[in-house]
Amino acid sequence: MTFRLFTSLGNEVREFRTVVPGEVRMYVCGVTPYDVTHLGHAFSYVQFDTLRRFLEWLGYRVRYVQNVTDIDDDMIMVSKRQGGRAIAEIRDENDAILRADLDRLNVLRPTVYPYATDHIPEIVETTQRLIDRGHAYVVDGDVFFDVASFPRYGQLNGLTLDELGKRENPESKRAHKKRGHLDFLLWQQVEPGDPAWDSPWGPGRPGWSIECTAMAVKHLGTQIDIHGGGSDLKYPHHENEIAQAECAYGVEPFCGWWVHNGMLQLDGVKMSKSLGNLVLARDLMRTYEPDHLRLYLLSHHMRTDANYVPGAVDALADRFGSLRAATAHAAEGPPNREALATMVAHLEADFDVPGTLDAAERVARRVLGGVSEQGEATALRETLRILGFAFAGARGPATGDFSP
Ligand SMILES: [Zn+2]
Repeated sequence: MTFRLFTSLGNEVREFRTVVPGEVRMYVCGVTPYDVTHLGHAFSYVQFDTLRRFLEWLGYRVRYVQNVTDIDDDMIMVSKRQGGRAIAEIRDENDAILRADLDRLNVLRPTVYPYATDHIPEIVETTQRLIDRGHAYVVDGDVFFDVASFPRYGQLNGLTLDELGKRENPESKRAHKKRGHLDFLLWQQVEPGDPAWDSPWGPGRPGWSIECTAMAVKHLGTQIDIHGGGSDLKYPHHENEIAQAECAYGVEPFCGWWVHNGMLQLDGVKMSKSLGNLVLARDLMRTYEPDHLRLYLLSHHMRTDANYVPGAVDALADRFGSLRAATAHAAEGPPNREALATMVAHLEADFDVPGTLDAAERVARRVLGGVSEQGEATALRETLRILGFAFAGARGPATGDFSP
């Protein structure tokens, strides 16, 4: 059985192999918990959860790390707006809400769930390595990555340094201090009164991208198999991560598969609090069972942008009902091999979950029509377990080996 998976690095589908046989080291960028999360976050984490479950079904031991960015401009802004409220308190409040939503959606908890603020020594050490190896420079308390020192910068986005240089640079902070237009902060001086940690360059706080590199390397090693996140993180965040890891540790590639999920929009518009068009998973779960919402989220291919329209979850009510009713016919004994292979083949071919769901619905119709072969309902149950449905007996969130 061969699993082929798309990677954004080179935009190609490749046969999946791991650095260590039988073991997957997987890192997924987590949230910045300064505010509520919306259906787009649920879409991303349900997709990565399903990929993790499929890898486990293939026989891999999966170590899944998902970080929490609990120090950045947004966290500080919210803290100030709330009268200087402790950032840890804001983090814990928003994180608890997200965790409760994901638990209900049957998303397995990460193996490790690191907070950036618990990794300042690792971030300082990685930054120092980059300075020592000639890939970073210090200007008056700020440390910048020297993009010109890493000619492969841009490869993840399929762009050359020249082409990137012509685009608007989201890393505009302290532009007057930078040697190169694309250089980005690894460590930054802070405004008076803002949270700060000691470092060899004076008190300050980390840049954004270095946090993920330091946490990935600490919990997974210098070479990992899968790095995930939303497609909006491809540039500059993930481009920066490759540069940092490969320059600090002299490895290539830092990551075997870059897996990006598409963006979930509402009626064709990006969801954002300022537009007031947020759809929340927990609001939908007041109306729909969590497994029904999970089915909706999985009915889109992970890589494509999805467009939520009101009523879209309702439209899947029949499919949800028949999958569940047919699964109830599963019995003891082995699954029908052919039916199972037909459904799983779509997952093996570039993780095509919608393809698997279409095949599962055909099996469900045969089962409910009384024309199925021996073991087909059992094969259906096994397939829906891989996809994480609680009604099919998929293991629950608390069974992950997460430790707080
Ligand atoms: Zn990240």
